[in-house]
Amino acid sequence: MRNISSLRCLFCAYPKNKFLSKYFSNQVHRKAEQIINEKRVIFSGIQPTGIPHIGNYLGALKHWVELQNESDDIYYSIVDLHSLTIPKSRDFMRDSIFNITACLLACGVNPDTTVVYQQSSVPEHTQLSWVIGCIVPVNRLKHLPQWKEKLESSIDGGGHIGRYTYPVLQTADILLYKATHVPAGEDQAIHLVLTNEFAKSFNRMHGKFFPETQMISNPTFARIRDFRDPRVKMSKSSPSINGRIELTDTDSEIHSKIKRAVTDCTSQVTYDPENRPGVSNLIQIHCGMCNITPEEACAIACNMDTGKYKSLVADAVIDQLSPIREKYLNIRKDEVKLKMVLDHGAERARVVAKSNWESIRELLGINIAEIS
Ligand code: ATP
Ligand code: MG
Repeated sequence: MRNISSLRCLFCAYPKNKFLSKYFSNQVHRKAEQIINEKRVIFSGIQPTGIPHIGNYLGALKHWVELQNESDDIYYSIVDLHSLTIPKSRDFMRDSIFNITACLLACGVNPDTTVVYQQSSVPEHTQLSWVIGCIVPVNRLKHLPQWKEKLESSIDGGGHIGRYTYPVLQTADILLYKATHVPAGEDQAIHLVLTNEFAKSFNRMHGKFFPETQMISNPTFARIRDFRDPRVKMSKSSPSINGRIELTDTDSEIHSKIKRAVTDCTSQVTYDPENRPGVSNLIQIHCGMCNITPEEACAIACNMDTGKYKSLVADAVIDQLSPIREKYLNIRKDEVKLKMVLDHGAERARVVAKSNWESIRELLGINIAEIS
């Protein structure tokens, strides 16, 4: 049986046993226990668009590592096809794939128990994407806020088909393995809604095949904000390097970026994500790094001004990240080994992807192999 305390924590958002009795509702308990008795298929992805930052770490990668166990089927994909929606150079792409793989391993993803692979190594992702695309109404994608934002912010009019249909490919990524759980940050919530919608449409047409998918996320740090502009989320692809802390940043870079983080004119440390996004972002990062609640973080900071608090948060980030950075630098040197990890992962992913794809072809009536 899996470690019950760590699993419950993912629903409640506050790891460590001492908080269990305080924060867990009965509903959360029931949900956790129900899931413990079922076999789960866990899928999640990360784009090779740069070095992962602390938002990726707290919103996704930390969960990825905590969720690992021997009894579930777990797939963590480097979703390289998604990253093509914003074109990059050949060298950048190649480097990023190795960088992300090394980061995952440095964070504690175990390629012996978990399938770590490149999305483009498994052609069934795009094949299923086509099938899903054939049942998704154009209007459902057209009104997504992401699409509208991209259209408005893009210099080329944002009109590429890939940028428009990437939620369809995301649905295919998840459904290809019949995933039941997706650990991800808040920005992915809308995609999970779409996945379940599209899966239901497929099931209505062809019989129940795809399961319902649940998102695993911690509300306290599911959306870490950009240090330079706390109105937007921290992103790998944001042009401002000072807005994010990457997992490979040095201790002095971490101190300097947090010191310069935009807050507001009030020097007290209080938690109010709506009205005080800058300082609340620091509290959320503190909570994620130290496994504490916002109330506890505020109690720790009660005699500090934001300047002093920034220094405390920077130390907490350094405590977590410096061992990861050291591991990363070691692992990253060996590209042959990293490639072996990805090749092995792709082989394992392809076995399941192929088998599910053949079943889907049968449901669609396009698999004529059985007809004599
Ligand atoms: P890009 O800017 O290229 O989209 P990104 O930083 O958004 O990069 P992704 O590769 O798109 O990173 O997402 C990887 C995972 O990290 C997803 O589960 C996503 O929800 C999560 N994530 C991304 N940004 C944040 C954030 N600021 N806070 C919490 N989770 C995040
Ligand atoms: Mg993203």
